[in-house]
Parts: sequence; structure tokens; C-alpha cells
Amino acid sequence: MENFDKLNLSSDIKKSLKNLRFTKPTEVQSKTIPFAISKQDILASAETGSGKTAAYLIPLIQQIKTKQNVFGIILTPTRELAQQVADVAKLLVGYKSGINIALLVGGSSMNIQLNQLKKRPKIIVGTPGRINDLISRGSLSLKNFNFFVLDEADRMLDMGFGIQVDQIVLDLPKSRQTLLFSATLPKEIIQLSKKYLTNPKRVDIEENNVIKSQIKQKIINTKTEEKYSKLLDEISVRNGSILIFVRTKYATEKLKKRLIKDKIKSSAMHGDLRQNKRDRILDNFRKERFRILIATDIASRGLDIPHIEHVINYDLPQVPEDFVHRIGRTARSGSIGEALSFVTKNESKMWKSIEKLLDQLKKPDKKNKHEDTKQKKYEKIENNSDNKSVKKRYRKRKKSRSKSRKYHR
Ligand code: AMP
Repeated sequence: MENFDKLNLSSDIKKSLKNLRFTKPTEVQSKTIPFAISKQDILASAETGSGKTAAYLIPLIQQIKTKQNVFGIILTPTRELAQQVADVAKLLVGYKSGINIALLVGGSSMNIQLNQLKKRPKIIVGTPGRINDLISRGSLSLKNFNFFVLDEADRMLDMGFGIQVDQIVLDLPKSRQTLLFSATLPKEIIQLSKKYLTNPKRVDIEENNVIKSQIKQKIINTKTEEKYSKLLDEISVRNGSILIFVRTKYATEKLKKRLIKDKIKSSAMHGDLRQNKRDRILDNFRKERFRILIATDIASRGLDIPHIEHVINYDLPQVPEDFVHRIGRTARSGSIGEALSFVTKNESKMWKSIEKLLDQLKKPDKKNKHEDTKQKKYEKIENNSDNKSVKKRYRKRKKSRSKSRKYHR
């Protein structure tokens, strides 16, 4: 689609798009918006970076502006992503639109959120925990929310939010429009879509938006004890903002202290920090008040900070998929980015798995194969074995593949 004109959008939205300098719809937008405006359910495999946020917000806002009694709720797995979505929603509805937006996430003041609810928001963006909290306190009812978006559904399941999402869906009206966006579509997501969606329009993005061709990749084989000095060398020859990934919460703080001692201004972000601190750090990073952010995989998805020019994998992630998400934090919106990975001897097996995954992702038809094969293998062994302890071991492995990601964030 050449431009947004064909979509017959309200003049307010057109104005907002112009302000945002969105002239041409991205692939996911042109494949989703016409169907979502005509109230169809959508099952989309789209990654952050593809323009998926506007792909569901434009139809929602168009419906709110042109029809009565349309209320939208968007669930995201992380507070940061919810904040980002709410920010885009505010820009799209435009100033003085009279359309209120509530941001309902954990770790933030309940009173502020209760006040937002009193204003009868047309759009709610939030994380499952806080939304359930508000429902069970009797402060929130979703019975009028007839436009439901489940964003980053695969991550939602990875983070163990499946039951929470089920509970929220119970509070939603049966007659509603549902849009599910997921970076990958493994078996669990297909099952989820059968539970929540009705005759969805499938949207697959042909071009893989994750492995962007503008990301220059480099690896450095090294020993653990040499990593830090090599990191200093690499920082000194690079310009622009750098996002460094390490494995644990503790390691983020430790590396920050070492860098600060070496007079390199940096900050650390991980799941143990209070929400207002996390917000402050991200805000300062966005405003380029410091150049280096060290984070766990909590920052590997969803973050959209255009000036990140380098992603450095100081430690490799625990699962190959997170590598893809990590490096997607650079080269945002068509800019150029670099990804550097340190690989120690202990990490060589993980690096091989990452390379295999990157290879598969370059072949779109095999895109989801990697996701399924390991799970399937473990499931098969679990089902076919008569030995109780083997059964137990593989059941555990199957579970830990998704749980291990959550633990260190
Ligand atoms: P998202 O996948 O929704 O996180 O969007 C990724 C980035 O693409 C964000 O920085 C958006 O501002 C930008 N973006 C989304 N849609 C468009 C568009 N139609 N034209 C240009 N940039 C866009």
C-alpha cells in the first residue's frame, strides 16, 4: 500500500500520522488495518519493530472516533512496553480529542490509576497483574471493552501470564473483536488463538523484520577474565548509544560499578528495581543523558529507542530466541546498527544454537521450526518413556525452556 489515504481514516488520525511522519504503512499495517477496521479478528505474527503498535491502534482509534461505544484494552507483558504503547496511543488520538487513555501497570501508584479509571477511559493499556488486581478489587469492569489486543502473546506465555490472561478474558464481553500479535506462532499460541479468537484473519509478515539487514554483526571469542578489557576497547572505538546485555541482575550492577569507576557514565536496569526507578533510567537513556545502558533480558524486547547504535552481548542469553530480540533493539526504523557478541568457551554451544536459529530465520518457511523442535523432542521423550524419572526429567526440561528466561530478568 502506497500511503494511508486508501484506508479512509478520520481526518484527526491522518493529522496525527502526519505529525508522526508515518507516510507509508508498514507491511503489518497494510495487511492488518483494513480487516481490523471492518471488525475482523486478527492473528498476526509480527515483532516489535514491524510497526505493529500502530497496526492495532489505528483501527481501534478509527472505530472509537467513528462508532459509539467502542472501548479498547491492550495487554502487554511488560510495563515498559505498556508505557510505549500508551505513548503512541496518545499521539495518535491527538491532543484535546477527549479520548482518555489509562495506563495500568504494576509498581506504580494505584491512586493515580484509580483516578484515570474515574475518567472512563476509552483505551486501557496495561499488564495482566495490575489489571487483575483492579478487577478483583472491584475498581475495574471490562464488560464494555469490546476491542481486545493481546500484544507479544508469546512472551506473555513465557513470562507465565497465561492464567492471568485467561482471567481477564473472562471479564471481557463474549461479543468483541480480538487481535493477537506474537513474534512467533508456536503450538501454544495457535491453541491460545483458538480459545480467544473467532475466524481470525492470519497476518504473516513476509520479510523477517527481526534480522534486519542493517545490523552489522561481529563476534569476539574471548576468555571470561579478558571480557572487561575488551569491552573497554570496544566502547572506546564506538560512537552513539550502547545497550549491553548481561545474564543476571547482579551482573548489571557489577558491570555498571566497574564502568563508572573507569569514568564511563552508565546505568543498569533489571527486574529488581522499583518501577519508578526503571522509568527514570529509561527516560534518561531516551534523552541521551548517559550513553550506556546495561540490562538483563528484561530489555530484550519491546524497547524502541531509535538512537541505540550498538547492542553488545557481554554475556550470551540463555535461549537463542532472546538473542534475536536483543539485537532488534538496534537499527530501529531503518537506521543502521551494530551487534557485538562476546563468546567464551563455555558459551560456544549456545553460540552454535544462535547461529542455527539465525540461519533458520533467514529462511521464512522454517521460521518457527526451531521454536517447536526442542519442545516437541522433549514432549515425545516424556510421552514415550515408561521410566518415571526420565518422564519427570523431560517434563522439567520442557518447562524450564520457557521459565529460565523469566528468572534472571
Ligand atoms: P513498533 O513495531 O510498533 O514498536 O514500531 C517500531 C517503530 O516503527 C516505531 O519507532 C514507530 O514509530 C515506527 N513506525 C511505525 N509505523 C510506521 C510507519 N508507518 N512509518 C514510519 N515509521 C513507523
